[in-house]
Amino acid sequence: MPLEFKSIKKYTRLLDPRDNYREIQVESEIRFHPLTGRTARIAHFATFQGFPKTDLKPLAEATRKTCPFCAETVEAITPRFPADMIPEGRLKLGETVIFPNLSPYDKHSAVAVVTREHYVPLLELSAQQLNDAFSAAFQYFERTAKGDPEAEYALVNWNYMPYAAATQVHTHLQVFATSTPGNHHADLINGSRAYREKTGRNFWADFLAEETRLGERYIGRTGNVEWLTHYTPFGAMGDILFLFPRRASSWDLLPEDLSDMVGGLQRLFRYLDSLGIHSFNLALYPGARGQDNFWTHGLVSPRLSFNPAIGAADVGTLRHLYNEPFSMFRPEQQRDQIKPFFE
Ligand SMILES: [Zn+2]
Repeated sequence: MPLEFKSIKKYTRLLDPRDNYREIQVESEIRFHPLTGRTARIAHFATFQGFPKTDLKPLAEATRKTCPFCAETVEAITPRFPADMIPEGRLKLGETVIFPNLSPYDKHSAVAVVTREHYVPLLELSAQQLNDAFSAAFQYFERTAKGDPEAEYALVNWNYMPYAAATQVHTHLQVFATSTPGNHHADLINGSRAYREKTGRNFWADFLAEETRLGERYIGRTGNVEWLTHYTPFGAMGDILFLFPRRASSWDLLPEDLSDMVGGLQRLFRYLDSLGIHSFNLALYPGARGQDNFWTHGLVSPRLSFNPAIGAADVGTLRHLYNEPFSMFRPEQQRDQIKPFFE
């Protein structure tokens, strides 16, 4: 039994104040990641109708003057690469500017500023701007980190807007390479290796085949990239998984893979905007070079406030200290909401 979408449902008895204290049963669910076995909880609330749209322009105006990433300041105050790494000091492609992260996460750690303009609304980020930003990130890896044993995994992360922990409104990516992947990433790498040893098969090929067969979470394709909702979401709003079939490591990604990814991201942004969600995290999970047991993939996790009136975070004790993801929506329900944006 190599691949299973296992879940346990729990039922709570209570007297419902909304219905004259009639006894009801309320369902919750614990799901197990089909590869890592890690759990995530899902409590089914009413169908989510979205938030009122937030106008980010006042926040953009208030932060413009002190922004280090605006075209007029980025050249003056951000760090430069040593000449033996990037002789021109900062790597540029289109509007993208990449420079070293003054507070690095690892040996190779940079920031990619995506636009010249301080604030470009999510739906106005162009395919060209996004393609250039991701392409430049991989050029940075090629030029500075390739072949370094301390840079096996080339990562691109995106914290978009304050609910997603962005420290600047100005759109930027975190770009770093590491030989020490984070906990979830390491679970995926180790699990994929063990799955290969146990079954002789590639987990991700089996996973995509099974998700496609089930059809409950499968959204669709943009070129070479497959999109589905995440069975065990990290985010309270669920996550969206995008998969690059047969691309074991991020060093194997081709330019057209990135533009196919950008095409899907732009569809996702329209979905997020339709719900009034303006913040998300994006992570890329690559495998090691030369391995045939992993397919590079990513997650997009929408972020929100549990109570915007008091600025409540969407990560509480359960997620933060028990390291137990919690989502308010079934990934299958989320898939039905997203699918029209991919048709
Ligand atoms: Zn700016």
